[in-house]
This record gives sequence, structure tokens and C-alpha cells, in this order.
Amino acid sequence: MDGSFKIGRLFGIPVLIHFTFLLIIPLFAWIIGSDIDFTIQMVSNTFQVDIDDSLIISGYIPYLLGAIIALGLFVGVFIHELSHSLIALRAGIRIDSITLLFFGGVAAIEEQEPEPRTEFIMALAGPLTSLCIGLTSAVIVYLIHFFITSTAEAGILIYIFGYLAILNVLLFAFNLLPAFPMDGGRVLRAYLAGRMPLHKATSIASTIGKGFAIMFGLVGLLLFSPILILIAFFIYIGAGQESAVTRYNFLLKDVTVGDIMARPIVDVQPQMPLSDVLALMYQTKHLGFPVIDRGVLMGIITLTDLARTPVLDRDAMQVRDVMTREVITLPPHAPVMDALRIMTRQDIGRIPVMSDDNILGIVTKSDIFTVIELREV
Ligand SMILES: [Zn+2]
Repeated sequence: MDGSFKIGRLFGIPVLIHFTFLLIIPLFAWIIGSDIDFTIQMVSNTFQVDIDDSLIISGYIPYLLGAIIALGLFVGVFIHELSHSLIALRAGIRIDSITLLFFGGVAAIEEQEPEPRTEFIMALAGPLTSLCIGLTSAVIVYLIHFFITSTAEAGILIYIFGYLAILNVLLFAFNLLPAFPMDGGRVLRAYLAGRMPLHKATSIASTIGKGFAIMFGLVGLLLFSPILILIAFFIYIGAGQESAVTRYNFLLKDVTVGDIMARPIVDVQPQMPLSDVLALMYQTKHLGFPVIDRGVLMGIITLTDLARTPVLDRDAMQVRDVMTREVITLPPHAPVMDALRIMTRQDIGRIPVMSDDNILGIVTKSDIFTVIELREV
């Protein structure tokens, strides 16, 4: 997902964090810091416990507590996401990455679509984990005074764990809403997929998801809640993306890159001046060419590579000066979905099709989308 960066790996899966999660730390510090009395009351009423607030409300401590609670929320979301991934791994599903958002996570499963039964269990695991974390935090709230005699110090811990208990139970409830691609929406899709083809089930689930997103967005605007607006945005985009991928998977099923590759290929030599390449682009309307020297693929040159060179140097510079040397290639029997996935992930527009060191053709993103359009009618 855009706007995410990698924080590490777990069980071989890259774990990414979305930048909005970092905004949540100051946001919580501000929400809690500016209205500490209200939140103390909320925790106290929820658990029917007295909270000694003599330490909590002093100086900058409310803001510090806000940041600690935001970090606690992060740990909760992380364990939630981990539970999805562990079930997926046990079911033999490959996960490309996990992105942590402040209200849950997104596990990118790019290899295959899970069986409805597996997805059902996988999707439920996360919210149930959040519920367990919430209940455990609640139990801790009642146990604290057995271990800490100072009521002021105990007050701080009761406040933190009480707040986290509420947040994790909210995560549980919120994630169970049938707002695809959130967990509840995945449960719904798995249910529907037992009764109809997967792409139809996904389409229905994502329409419902988008409906929820619009509702959250409107409520967020009315209540001036940036958190709700952000969630609405994530759900709307996510629902659209996932239903598109499932539709492509369905439409491009059994289509190989060999079936749709362009032939004969137009190639260029490493010594060719860049101005000639540009002329060839005008002439052929292709925006990229494989670079071939005595029958061997040396690299690939695209308009993007050309655009990086100064206009005045294009007569003097040659293809080999700017071409991309590490070329991703695919065999003709590779599924077109693989090509599309690689193009999206690597942000490239074309992939040469090779068999035994011979270049057979080239498959481009625009060709793939033409095939998708043709198959849709
Ligand atoms: Zn989840």
C-alpha cells in the first residue's frame, strides 16, 4: 500500500507500517492530553473502579500517557494482524506483506485466493484476538491493586490498561462490521463465495464495503472526526482495489503471456543514439524496446529512461548509457496475472517473454488491460 514503509520481517513476511499510524501517536497524545478528566471518567465508569488521578493529571503526564496508549494500540493491532498471518501460514497461503493501519491491518495475499472456509477462519482470527487482548487488559485492571500499593501509581496503570481494554474491544467490534475489505467483510465474502463464484461474491462484498465507507465518511464530516474520515478512505480504496484484482483474476484465468504477447518485437541495439530511439517511438508508438546485441537480451529501454536525459545530449548518448540492465523476463507459459502482478509491484510497463535465451515477444500493461476489456464484453 502506498505511504507504507518496512519496519521488519516476521516469519519471513515483510511487515510495513502506514504513515498514518505515526500520526495517531501525536493525535492520541493530544486527545488524551487535552481532555484527561473525561477519559479518566470513561475508564472509571466502564470498569466501575476508582482511579487515583493525582499522578495522571500532573504536568505533561497526560500527553505522555496518550503516546503510551497509542503505542499500546500499535502492539494490539500487530498481534491482531499476526493471528491472521499465522492461520494463513498454517493453511499454506503465501502472504506478500502485512501493512499495519491504526484500526487494523491489511495482509496482501498475492499468490492465490484462499478457499472460502480458510478465509472465514482467517478473517475471524483477528477480531477474536483483539477481543482476547481487550479482556486480558480488563482482567489486569482488576488485578493491579493486588500488586501495587501506591494508589497514585496504580491509578496510572489502571488508566492505561483500562483504556487499552476499551480500544481493543472497539477494534474487535469495528473489524467485525461487514465493511469489506475489513475482517467482517471478508467473513461476508467467504459466506457468499460458498454460494456463488468468487468474483461475484467479492463484487457484492465490496459494494457493501463502499457503502459503509461513504457512511463513515459522512458521519466523520458531521462529527469532525479525522479518524473516521481516514478509515472511510481506506475502506473505499481497499474495496475497489480488491474487487478489481479478483475480477482480473477471473477474466485472465488460463491466459498466458504467450497468448497475448506482441510479435514480432521491435528491438534496438546498444549503440543506437537516443535520438533514433525517440524517432522509433514516434514511428512505432511503442514506449519501450528490448535491447538486443547479437541475439542476446542486454537490457530494456523505455521512455522513462529517455526522459531522464538532457535533450541536447540525446544525439551523443547511446542506448547502453541509459538502459535498464536487470530485466525481468517471463516464460511464455506464465499466467498473465503473474505479469500484471510483477508490473504493479515493480512499477514497470513491459516484460519480455523468453524461452531458452530467445526473446519470443513482449507483453505490456496496456495490452493486458486491452485483453481485460475484451474479455469483459
Ligand atoms: Zn484483521
